[in-house]
Amino acid sequence: MRRQLELDMAGPWLDQSASKIIDPANGDVLLGLRMGTPADVDVACDAAAEAQRAWFDLPWEQRAGVFRRAADLLEQNADLYAGWLIRETGSVGAKAGFEISVVVKALREATAMPSQPSGLVLPSDPAKLSFCRRMPLGVVGVISPFNFPIYLAMRAVAPALAIGNAVVLKPDPRTTVSGGLLMAQLLKAAGLPDGVFHVVPGGAEAGEALCVHPRIAMIQFTGSTAVGRKIGALAGGRLKKLSLELGGKNSLIVLDDADLDVAASNAAWGAYLHQGQICMASGRILVQDSIHDALAERIVAKAKNLPMGNPTIGEYAIGPLIDEAQGTKARDLLNVAMAEGATLLTGGGGEGAFFEPAVLTNVTPGMRAFDEEFFAPIAALTRFSTDDEAIELANSTEYGLSAAILSKSVSRALAIGRRLQTGLLHINDQTVGDEVVNPFGGRGKSGNGTSIGGPANWDEFSQWQWVTVKHEAQQYPF
Ligand code: NAD
Repeated sequence: MRRQLELDMAGPWLDQSASKIIDPANGDVLLGLRMGTPADVDVACDAAAEAQRAWFDLPWEQRAGVFRRAADLLEQNADLYAGWLIRETGSVGAKAGFEISVVVKALREATAMPSQPSGLVLPSDPAKLSFCRRMPLGVVGVISPFNFPIYLAMRAVAPALAIGNAVVLKPDPRTTVSGGLLMAQLLKAAGLPDGVFHVVPGGAEAGEALCVHPRIAMIQFTGSTAVGRKIGALAGGRLKKLSLELGGKNSLIVLDDADLDVAASNAAWGAYLHQGQICMASGRILVQDSIHDALAERIVAKAKNLPMGNPTIGEYAIGPLIDEAQGTKARDLLNVAMAEGATLLTGGGGEGAFFEPAVLTNVTPGMRAFDEEFFAPIAALTRFSTDDEAIELANSTEYGLSAAILSKSVSRALAIGRRLQTGLLHINDQTVGDEVVNPFGGRGKSGNGTSIGGPANWDEFSQWQWVTVKHEAQQYPF
């Protein structure tokens, strides 16, 4: 039954001789899928444009009902979706369960959108009605990453559809099933009319075809800054609306009055959750001098005690990275850090896609470990002496996604936070967090100044239309 469901889901893309979906924990082939070509993107975009008008014309209750049913179906079948997240992405069970829960929230938020007022009556000539209303853009292209593949796609797909757009989604090729095909199956089962939502599996070629397609009004991209730049040039050059949610090198600042055990737990969670493969990961742990060594010791103890293994067959805190290449990249980064003068206190072992949680100290500005995203479970500690120095260190990055401060003095933390150049700021927490109803977006090279989520979604996925109505047309002076 489950197998049949999965085969139905893969549908026309199923091809055991084509690109393989691999379980990163053991290299097992889960499915073979044909990857989409620019011709497939063309077909999807044309069909989406055709279907969008009727979708937008549906009574709002019918549009809302699709997301209500989808949320219910997802909750009822959470095991199926979580199972794919675990096998296809190396998510541990708790992370997979958390991801499903935020996708359910995103669907429930989308359920509420069609019933919200979508316009304003404006002051004008008394004989004239002047108003503005939010209109769907048409067809929105969504390009999504591998790390939280369902949520990071659905956080764009659901609100875009709810406003009355059609959507063409290109997920990461390594997570095509959880990041795309299962979503299409879910929305179809929930009653989304045919043609309104398309998934085109594929890599850069399909993504670039989406960015330049004349039917696409907007690209919503979540992924690396390097690819975001390319997408910005391609789609921006064609004057499409752009939403770019990109990388981050996020500082967790631990002040000298913080509780050390709590700080160690926050640091380990921020650096190691989902093997560090999170844009908001605590990639820099800035620690005040007087508590540095004691905190480092506690983080080392945590790192050594986190069980690592194949999440399909057991409960672990650390699963595999997305693939062996990411494991090799993490080992290289660690070696470079040591060559540049950092000290490895623990971790870094493991083979293939498995990488033991590591703790580095003596990480200083100018080192790659200070500047680059790890996307691996590495806690990198940097010392500071004054609050001003912490601010300077935290701001010395091209990115500007998230920051967090741990201190018993909330006013001291708030004063520091006001000077941090990030889109997200957490006081007495670590850097990773998304509650779905909050606007989410980064500054600097972490994005293009847009936000997604909560109140930001209307601005993101619609455009104002200003309308005036006179009772009858009048003569002008000439
Ligand atoms: P990536 O940029 O390599 O890939 C993301 C997506 O872009 C994939 O679907 C990929 O197939 C596609 N793609 C690759 N080249 C393309 C091209 N030339 N044209 C169009 N599409 C193309 O990202 P990744 O390394 O897989 O993901 C990790 C990155 O994503 C990290 O930098 C992380 O910080 C970032 N991220 C950001 C957020 C956020 O909300 N800010 C969330 C998660 C991940």
